[in-house]
Amino acid sequence: MPLGEFELIDRWFAHAGASRTDVVLGVGDDAALVAPPAGYELALAADTLVEGTHFPAGLDPAAIGHRVLAVNLSDLAAMGAEPAWALLTLTLPRTDEAWLAQFAHGLDTLARRTGTALVGGDTTAGPLVVTIAIAGLVPTGQALRRAGARAGDLVFVSGLPGEAAAGLGVLQGRLAGTAAAEAVVKARFLWPEPRLSLGVALRGLASACIDVSDGLAGDLGKLCAASGVGARIQAASLPVSAELAALAGPEAARLCLAGGDDYELLFTAPARHRDRIEALGGARISVIGEIVAGQGVVVEGLAGAPFDLGGYDHFRG
Ligand SMILES: [Mg+2]
Repeated sequence: MPLGEFELIDRWFAHAGASRTDVVLGVGDDAALVAPPAGYELALAADTLVEGTHFPAGLDPAAIGHRVLAVNLSDLAAMGAEPAWALLTLTLPRTDEAWLAQFAHGLDTLARRTGTALVGGDTTAGPLVVTIAIAGLVPTGQALRRAGARAGDLVFVSGLPGEAAAGLGVLQGRLAGTAAAEAVVKARFLWPEPRLSLGVALRGLASACIDVSDGLAGDLGKLCAASGVGARIQAASLPVSAELAALAGPEAARLCLAGGDDYELLFTAPARHRDRIEALGGARISVIGEIVAGQGVVVEGLAGAPFDLGGYDHFRG
């Protein structure tokens, strides 16, 4: 007999994630109770993954569990917040215990590693949709925002944007290369690493910050719009990895600019903070351009047709 809703929650999720002393009451009542510390603001975010839209059908359930938490943690990282409590809403076509065991393992592993307690949620029947709502903590007044970039600030990005989109391309059979290069980019799509410690370290250094979920250039456009400035990016400064270059060829720089699903941090800071930022460690950090007066994102030195911020959508056809 398939598991019922309450057995499902009890078996797989009642004890998932980190245990935190600030959880007064976790899974099992009508609502969870948590005790935020004095001197902090709550950073709240939610993200949904829909099978067939945000990930291909049949994806490794552990990777789905990891990704749905990782994309939420990435939003907290972009605010300079540390994760605390999460709610999970799971819509499943059926209660497949093997699938649930792997999904819960992927979610639980990342939650424990990042100090995130799973304090509640809901399960229901339907097409596969996973949603997490998350709460993080940031000292009052210290959150990073999209607004705050000023003309003359440098533009920084962590990691290797574009690899995740290439990984999705490999998973969907649209890109192919050596087994080693394919493994690197597939892992980037399946197991994104939220830049939590970088986000915290950027408090007081970065003037503005956003995480790269929809593509570096488009997300930089959002940061610029929020800050009331423009940006100039140098194509030669983009961190295109050897794997991405081998898989995507002449399209590599465009994939780096527009790929999406990277969950890296894109941020700005005055040039005087450059050395401190580059010494932070943990993730590769690249300076890719500068903030200018005006509006819009210009990419200089890109081979081929001019880069169209709105129109380029390589992987969505
Ligand atoms: Mg975001």
